[in-house]
Amino acid sequence: MLKVLKFGGSSLADAEQFRKVAAIVKSDPANRYVVASAPGKRFAEDVKVTDLLLECYRLARKKEPIDEPFEKIETRFRQIIADLGMTLSLESEFATIRLVIKNRASRDYVASRGEYLNSMILAEYLGYSFLDAEDAIYFTDEGILDMERTDESLKVLLSEADRAVIPGFYGSMPNGTVRTFSRGGSDITGSIVARAAEADLYENWTDVSGMLMADPRIVKDPEPIPCITYRELRELSYMGASVMHEDAIFPVREAGIPINIRNTNCPEAPGTMIVSSDEMATKPPHHVTGIAGKKGFSAIYVEKSMMNGQKGFGRRVLQILEEHGINFEHLPSGIDTMSVVVNTAELESEKDAVLAALQKSVAPDKIDVFDDLAMIAVVGRGMVSAHGTAYRVFKALARVDVNVRMIDQGSSELNIIVGINAADYEAALDAIYKEFVK
Ligand code: ADP
Ligand code: ASP
Ligand code: MG
Repeated sequence: MLKVLKFGGSSLADAEQFRKVAAIVKSDPANRYVVASAPGKRFAEDVKVTDLLLECYRLARKKEPIDEPFEKIETRFRQIIADLGMTLSLESEFATIRLVIKNRASRDYVASRGEYLNSMILAEYLGYSFLDAEDAIYFTDEGILDMERTDESLKVLLSEADRAVIPGFYGSMPNGTVRTFSRGGSDITGSIVARAAEADLYENWTDVSGMLMADPRIVKDPEPIPCITYRELRELSYMGASVMHEDAIFPVREAGIPINIRNTNCPEAPGTMIVSSDEMATKPPHHVTGIAGKKGFSAIYVEKSMMNGQKGFGRRVLQILEEHGINFEHLPSGIDTMSVVVNTAELESEKDAVLAALQKSVAPDKIDVFDDLAMIAVVGRGMVSAHGTAYRVFKALARVDVNVRMIDQGSSELNIIVGINAADYEAALDAIYKEFVK
């Protein structure tokens, strides 16, 4: 048995959390590889070390002094070391990093230093080797993960280290410079390490007792999901259930390694098991597995009579978005109408150009952009066989007087997505949860 454990920022935010982590790691000899995040928030108004580092980067770029945020970072690490009663000194590391930031280090290098320093402390505290992600995780020139090279090099490095701590969140580019994943990316590192180590299990330790059926910041005490498939989890995490990075699934999915989301503050809770197929999953306790959503969407609504008869209409609409670097999220369409749901932030600066190009290319009868949309996804592997899911979603929304602006039944039959006004988001999420759980 071999396990890879990833601890998130809140699990490593201070010395007390480090002690919990050490107790968890030491409880089982199978716990050989540990991936660590940078110190996260200790309390609600606290600032994550990664955010302090990004503040240093921002100041350095403007040639302003970085002393204030940098000293906060140093203090946090010094305090963890002192409170753990360790003799380790990171002073020379601090001096180097401070100097490199002042000399205009890249954003990714700066952002990665929290994981780097925290992992050094954790490695020493556990008595494990420190294995720098810079020498183990590789990106291509395009900045995407080079899975093959990474897997190969990691396998060698892991075979040489019986027990090791690996910093999450970053790796290196072919030219040797540091590159990070997007925010929350330590989850991806954990998954990559689990795959290379051919682990039996990837444990992702955080501050909630598993993936919950809905966002706990909106729904009060949502039930944990005992078991979820990779596909369901991906749908939910993409739609904003941010407990795990949505890209963390791929490396372990191919290798068939299950993920167990666990709570560092409540290690006795079983958490959520994420498994590769419906056959491996246990029977879901409710009709739906989970509900997630996001605000910040816009719909580009295009109307043209006889649209369906015009070959290439949809393609031309999507091509224009592509030419302006905008991804589309959903594509509900009718006979003479088509809506393209996009991220408002992506559309904003390109809006006028996109609308002009659409006019020119497809000459619609009508074209409109609706902002302030929220999308909610109701996800469940049980939906294919059960009836009436959509009916219950609409009934729940009608009960709290929420107007449905758009409906998209995912082609996977795994989800139903509804578009509503952003102002209704919280009430809608709560109502749908209550419909299926209570
Ligand atoms: P970590 O620092 O351990 O990586 P994150 O902050 O990235 O942890 O993710 C855990 C947080 O995700 C929880 O504290 C919770 O607020 C949030 N969250 C949002 N949606 C969900 C959900 N459906 N289930 C569990 N947690 C969720
Ligand atoms: N520390 C990084 C962040 O805050 C990466 C992570 O926590 O996974 O985004
Ligand atoms: Mg996270």
